[in-house]
Amino acid sequence: MSHIIHRSLRQVPPVAVSAKGIFIRDSEGNTYIDASGGAAVSSLGHGHPDVLAAMHRQIDHCAYAHTSFFTTEVAEALADKLVSKAPQGISQVYFVSGGSEAMETALKLARQYFVEAGEEQRTMFISRRQSYHGNTLGALAVGGNEWRRKPFAPLLMEVPRVSPCYEYRGRGEDQTVEEYTQALLDELEDAIVRTGPEKVIGFCAEPVVGATGGAIPPTPGYFRGVRKLCDQYGILFIADEVMCGMGRTGTMFAIEQDEVAPDLIAVAKGLGAGYQPIGAVLAQGAIVERLRHGSGSFLHGHTYIGHPVACAAALAVQQVIERDNLLAQVARRGSSLRRMLGEAFGNHPHVGDIRGRGLFMAIELVHDRPTRNPFPASRKLHAKIKAEAMMRSLMVYPMGGTIDGQRGDHVLIAPPFIASTGDLAEIVGRLAESVEAALRLK
Ligand code: PMP
Repeated sequence: MSHIIHRSLRQVPPVAVSAKGIFIRDSEGNTYIDASGGAAVSSLGHGHPDVLAAMHRQIDHCAYAHTSFFTTEVAEALADKLVSKAPQGISQVYFVSGGSEAMETALKLARQYFVEAGEEQRTMFISRRQSYHGNTLGALAVGGNEWRRKPFAPLLMEVPRVSPCYEYRGRGEDQTVEEYTQALLDELEDAIVRTGPEKVIGFCAEPVVGATGGAIPPTPGYFRGVRKLCDQYGILFIADEVMCGMGRTGTMFAIEQDEVAPDLIAVAKGLGAGYQPIGAVLAQGAIVERLRHGSGSFLHGHTYIGHPVACAAALAVQQVIERDNLLAQVARRGSSLRRMLGEAFGNHPHVGDIRGRGLFMAIELVHDRPTRNPFPASRKLHAKIKAEAMMRSLMVYPMGGTIDGQRGDHVLIAPPFIASTGDLAEIVGRLAESVEAALRLK
């Protein structure tokens, strides 16, 4: 028996022993295509020599220096690099060890920003029903993932939630995209007004929804509308780019494509690309300026913030993305992947939607295409697809979500940016076989 508390307490997963490029090998000798980058993490694939070399160099120089005593050149360089690519006004970075920590940090930084101005009464965040912001108590509280929240609900702060921007399920037949978008913005405005704008700290959203729905992009103008409402009511817009950020959608930040600058952006996953656990919060300069001129410090901190080896890995990831022009490649390969998914599933009776941005794509499975009714939850189709895919040595990221009583089965595909078009064809071919096999199982 394993002494590890694994995700499933009933089954020990395969043992990964080596990984290179888009492949991971297990102890039984199976070689899997990592078509989901783990959970949209491994953007450069595995074993990238430049990242490994940068980590080795940093370990030789200085593996660790606590941030209550020191900064490091590598952390400063990484912050400079991220700021140089960030949306307008973002000028400060706080490093953490992962996505949940990044969201916790963003929530606390946002709260302290108002406390420093004497606005102690601001205690509320608003979020969307379809969202995942992490598993720690603050991040879980703002997230909308019902089944994850349920056992811990009594421990969580109260968070008003609004509808997600989920065109496939949300837009009425008689609504234009503009009308649908405006209705969502009206609902958000209503939530701000009902909560009392003077009590609201900020609105949290994933620019492209990841784990709770599978690569759901916003409608055009949605985030411009969000930005306008946040400005109008004096609240912060916190973008959770933990999954969709760091180049995954073809631009460094997904929100760039919506032409909006958030107040705070949480990133992780693709930042360290799986080589090291690292996340970050990027902040508008004005937020940190208020703290600088107020109490003089951010009342937060973790032992491993700005870990030099993690920063070295993340900096090398950025350098490889730049040198190899990988953002353009993500956009190009993303179009190929979309086309291939369209060919494989476009007329499939049980695939209702194919969506995403860049190399962040998903299919949504439905029992009945015209009504968009999902399969019953008891069928656990997403889990069956995952199992069938693993039998075909393919790692994809299927999820079963529950949104407003509607549940859906989604499969997220988030391959490494280095995947060739041949690799993508192989991924889509194996996925198509896996979906057929899973559908045959009752
Ligand atoms: N936010 C988003 C959008 C995520 O997708 C995730 C992880 N799936 C998190 C936060 C939490 O990140 P972590 O698992 O690194 O704590």
